[in-house]
Amino acid sequence: MRRTTAVAAVLLTAGCTPSPTPPAPAPSATVDYGVWAAGRSTPVADPLYPEKGNPGLDVLHYRLELDWQPTTRVLTGLATLRIRPVTDAPEIKLDFTGLTVDRVLLDGAAATGEVTGGKLVVPAPVTADRPVTLAVAYHGTPEQVAMPSHRGDASEGIGMRAGRDGTLWTMQEPWGALTWYPVNEHPSDEALYDLAVTVPRGWTAAASGTPGPVEGGTYHYSSADPVAAYVTTLSVDRYRRIELSGPNGLPITNFVRDETDDRYLPVLKRTPELLSWLEKRLGRYPYPTAGVLMNDSVSAMETQQMLSMGRGAFREADLEYFEAVLIHEYAHQWFGNAVTPSTWTDLWLSEGWATYLQYLYEQKLYGFDDDYLESYLRRRDAELRESVGPPGRPKAGTFAESNVYLCPAAMLREIHERLGDERFFALATAWAADNRDRSQDRAGFISFVNTHTGEDHTTLINTWLDSPTTPK
Ligand SMILES: [Zn+2]
Repeated sequence: MRRTTAVAAVLLTAGCTPSPTPPAPAPSATVDYGVWAAGRSTPVADPLYPEKGNPGLDVLHYRLELDWQPTTRVLTGLATLRIRPVTDAPEIKLDFTGLTVDRVLLDGAAATGEVTGGKLVVPAPVTADRPVTLAVAYHGTPEQVAMPSHRGDASEGIGMRAGRDGTLWTMQEPWGALTWYPVNEHPSDEALYDLAVTVPRGWTAAASGTPGPVEGGTYHYSSADPVAAYVTTLSVDRYRRIELSGPNGLPITNFVRDETDDRYLPVLKRTPELLSWLEKRLGRYPYPTAGVLMNDSVSAMETQQMLSMGRGAFREADLEYFEAVLIHEYAHQWFGNAVTPSTWTDLWLSEGWATYLQYLYEQKLYGFDDDYLESYLRRRDAELRESVGPPGRPKAGTFAESNVYLCPAAMLREIHERLGDERFFALATAWAADNRDRSQDRAGFISFVNTHTGEDHTTLINTWLDSPTTPK
């Protein structure tokens, strides 16, 4: 997610609504769950937000068939989840809120499901490592929920926004997927995705994943690499599609709205150049496609394979700022998406890297030297530790505030200085490649840095993460 500013600058029974009838899936015993093996995770309970996510379930795959009607602002969905229970449990409990469930099928048999307190509960016992298929039909107008933060963009809420103008978009960190599909909403449970989104003529659906065929008004997107729920996205707008070719022929698809987004085109068209700059430092871009969708939010998000850039965050800013944030969100494809923090306590692990790469790019963009960067980092680091606390010990009520961005970036600056360019970028490249499609945490990072460099950086890293004042 974007944060730092530039340096220089209900109860369900039978269906009573028009949502689709879930097709009866084959009995579980005949389903080959092995095809979704890449969606296997080791879910954990979140220390900051234990009420979100369910460490007892590992969702392997989500198939979301959605229909959006801009005039009535009704989203109709059929979500089919392939779930590997991690433990025996008396029920299936997922995160879901604001929409009405019409029908539930478990392994093809009718089941009941109640939406209460932000959870969908299906009272059916499950057994560890005996996967099940849960299909949920639902409908309604999505509503955003509160963000546990005092950030400038927190007042707008998180989750899916159904605009009065018929648009649909979402920003959902640390959660918000629960406002548009039933989900195990925790970064430690990554899964594969297939989306099929139907919209009326004149509208276009853009989403995370690899763009697939457009059949009539139905847009397809698929993710063959595991995705954490907070980096899924879906936006419906009157988009124009701009296709580019990136490094090694990487397909890039940008979704922009005429006139409103024209001013960003000169930068978006230079995406191949931006990705080359990152690849030079971090190794090959980790996914089969890239792109940007513009939406009406006031923030930006590193949604996987398809960044979400909020018009409200850039309207008043110069284009250099838009470019720096693009680098930040694209850097997250390596740090945050390919290597995902296990819990929200480790958010510094993705934001630190993305912010540091952004600053290095800004050095080139705005032309400031190393001394300027270092004095800026130390000054802001001191202020942030005093006002919000150290980055390794975030509090539940101050999610993703500037301390988890800038302070770990200052730490990476220190490591960069000690190692020099060649060894530092070799470390960055190896970290992203060796941990690709995995969750990581502080202990894993320290151990990796020490092994890779052959030097003990344990005290340096722990001090930068935990000290109430800027380390000497
Ligand atoms: Zn970020």
